[in-house]
Amino acid sequence: MTTTELGLPALRTVRATAPRDPARPADRRLVDRFGRVATDLRISLTDRCNLRCTYCMPAEGLDWMPRAEQLTDDELVRLIGIAVHDLGVRELRFTGGEPLLRRGLEDVIAVSAALTPRPDISLTTNGVGLARRAARLAAAGVNRLNVSLDTLRSDRFAAITRRDRLSDVLDGMEAARAAGLSPVKINTVLLRGVNDDEAVDLLRFAVARRFELRFIEQMPLDAQHGWQRAEMVTAGDILAALRTAFHLAPDGHDRGAAPAERWVVDGGPATVGVIASVTRPFCSACDRTRLTADGQVRSCLFARTETDLRALLRGGSSDEEIADAWRTAMWGKLAGHGIDDPGFVQPDRPMSAIGG
Ligand code: SAM
Repeated sequence: MTTTELGLPALRTVRATAPRDPARPADRRLVDRFGRVATDLRISLTDRCNLRCTYCMPAEGLDWMPRAEQLTDDELVRLIGIAVHDLGVRELRFTGGEPLLRRGLEDVIAVSAALTPRPDISLTTNGVGLARRAARLAAAGVNRLNVSLDTLRSDRFAAITRRDRLSDVLDGMEAARAAGLSPVKINTVLLRGVNDDEAVDLLRFAVARRFELRFIEQMPLDAQHGWQRAEMVTAGDILAALRTAFHLAPDGHDRGAAPAERWVVDGGPATVGVIASVTRPFCSACDRTRLTADGQVRSCLFARTETDLRALLRGGSSDEEIADAWRTAMWGKLAGHGIDDPGFVQPDRPMSAIGG
């Protein structure tokens, strides 16, 4: 019987002041027991969203995080500074919830962009409201962004997201390109019987408009806990569908820590990516560390423990104490996400509150 079935909270907060494991080397970076080094920080700016994607959250939304629990801008930029200066983080991705809903977003980005060394800065957004923000985001220091788009049909868009905003999102993508944010990537989740007949149309659209399309396998991270492995559209399904219309060749580049496997489409230059987190996991190359909007470090999307940096910030800890708690958190990172383990239990925090 799992903790969830027993009605117990499945998440454990690790005391940020836990004693240091003597086996942890005196490395100032975010290293783990398996030789990985986390240099890519995913920051959730809010758990709120203005869409209600059926595979992410219920129509009525969720119990949003109280404002007082959310990190203030000052707390957030202090943690980002520690990550870059003390822990060797080189990439920042702002996400959520919907990051464009965070007041002060451009200010947080501008401060992050002024750090030395200057981190690479990207944003994952649903694109609603992006058309009027893209130029300001670029000026603040965003280098590139990913826009989530699961369908090109407005009726389907309204059914999947429960909001009729497709044209807004398409305008936002064009505005991002016009603002010099390049490449603009599209993130697509295919759902069986809902939009899985659109793989080819989406790739045609992306190739024609010079957007870089990436399909993401649906993961067990929905608030409703309704994910079923047998129902998900796999990387194999996606590639088979695409190959009915395109010639796909492996792009030949070393993938490194990139989550997407990439293929060159019809001889190039366009490429398409597939992020097969479930059927072809890439945990052994993972270089990510995650910070939630309420200041919890997670070593993995599927982590069942979190480390409370907000308590340290608000308790008067020094930068070095906070950095060391972050190192301890990452030292405990597991070898893999465990979706295939018989005892796998979905984390309590849904994707929208972790940051995808
Ligand atoms: N609101 C922003 C957006 O829509 O891009 C950022 C947050 S959203 C959680 C980030 C990405 O996660 C989106 O592309 C969304 O489609 C994807 N996503 C949400 N739930 C997912 C799930 N269960 N499995 C795989 N991807 C998921």
